[in-house]
Amino acid sequence: MNDQISIYNTLSRKKERFIPKSPDEIKMYVCGPTVYDFSHLGHAKGYVSLDVIRRYLLWSGFKVTYVQNFTDVGHLTDDADEGEDKIEKRAKESKVGPMELVDKFISAYFNDFRALNVLDPDIAPRPSEHIKEIIDFIEVLIKKGFAYEIIGSVYFDVTKFKDYGKLSGRTLEKAKTGTRIEVRDEKRNPEDFALWIKAETGHILKWDSPWSVGYPGWHIECSVMSQKYLGNNFDIHGGGSDNIFPHNEDEIAQSESFSGEKMANYWLHWGMVKIEGEKMSKSKGNSKFIFNLLENHDPIVIRLAILKSHYRSIINFSEKLFTESEKNLDSIYSVLALLQEVETEKSQVEISSWINKARQNFILAMNDDFNTPLALSHLFDFTKKIKANLEKISVTQALEIQAFYLDIDGVIGLGLDKVRPSKYELDECLREKIYEREDARKRKDWQTADGIRDELLKKGIELEDTASGVKYKKL
Ligand SMILES: [Zn+2]
Repeated sequence: MNDQISIYNTLSRKKERFIPKSPDEIKMYVCGPTVYDFSHLGHAKGYVSLDVIRRYLLWSGFKVTYVQNFTDVGHLTDDADEGEDKIEKRAKESKVGPMELVDKFISAYFNDFRALNVLDPDIAPRPSEHIKEIIDFIEVLIKKGFAYEIIGSVYFDVTKFKDYGKLSGRTLEKAKTGTRIEVRDEKRNPEDFALWIKAETGHILKWDSPWSVGYPGWHIECSVMSQKYLGNNFDIHGGGSDNIFPHNEDEIAQSESFSGEKMANYWLHWGMVKIEGEKMSKSKGNSKFIFNLLENHDPIVIRLAILKSHYRSIINFSEKLFTESEKNLDSIYSVLALLQEVETEKSQVEISSWINKARQNFILAMNDDFNTPLALSHLFDFTKKIKANLEKISVTQALEIQAFYLDIDGVIGLGLDKVRPSKYELDECLREKIYEREDARKRKDWQTADGIRDELLKKGIELEDTASGVKYKKL
């Protein structure tokens, strides 16, 4: 088991050696999207980054239980317990039922993220299906004196939790010096936050409770669902850096008051997103949905573009980044294709030691707080070296190199198990033909597929269909 992994823990604000609670199972909870719209590049950055972390832990021999929720109720348009429920607001605008809207965007989530080669969560809970557990949890907090009911709503009293602010650094003393514009009058302290909200007239998503017909607050949902599936104390909690305050801070206050135990041992947060150098925001109108980008970008190129930045840093998405990533990816595809053409039995280079070194560099980079840009740059260097020495490599060594790429691909997930025609090796038009034929084969349109094969053969390209995809050879 890999005991050399270090993780930057937002809680301690430093890198720490990762020691799992149980040596053979890692438990992770990640704040999922509020499903009132399609996923954008900010979600892509977060969940692709977390996917590689999860895959690396699996690759290192751990069993991982990965829980990522879909928020379908209680996330308000304003952090100070004001505003409308985001799902209800959008459902009204779109003239559909809230759960119809939620189902649509959950299925869109899976379309987008499966295309980006992100593994599905092991458990993907929805708060609307955990109302009973949420009510029970709140009752414990009231009984223990951490929460209070007032005119049908329940609030968490932040002055009762002495560690409030430990994650974000926003302690109550600091908060007092800041100004808050809107606060609900009935709260004991302006920083108190809602656990249960009494539904106003016309509100659709609502349930009976001991306090009122209402709905849960956003923060309590993650406390309840992580506790239900992973226990009071678990290994890793992940989220976007915009979740640190108030969402994750409030989760800690609720969970630790509930159980008396530390909630998560490592708090991990991913950085935000810029588009062509500008902050991505709906108000700027530069938000990019994943499904829009997929219309003219290969999903694996988007995935690689994300991994070329460290998960904690801010990523600047630009057409330049996508083009560079496409070239990087192509260099690997092209070497993998060329390795299939190696025919000699004679070797003139020490491939095993090159592979060992490359694997070691990859592991060292990933062990250091999952440094994917460094790990990838080692892989690109290795690829260059192989390309420059192709004539000196034997058939057996070619197989050894392919096995190495496939092994590493278990972590980076670039779909290297499927041989693709290399864009820069082949003429653009020939490449399109190969893709076109693949599509025809998928549709079982054998006539078109055979027609394209014959056409390519005339141009000196021979295609062979194998279990791992199509292979091509220049005659
Ligand atoms: Zn959450």
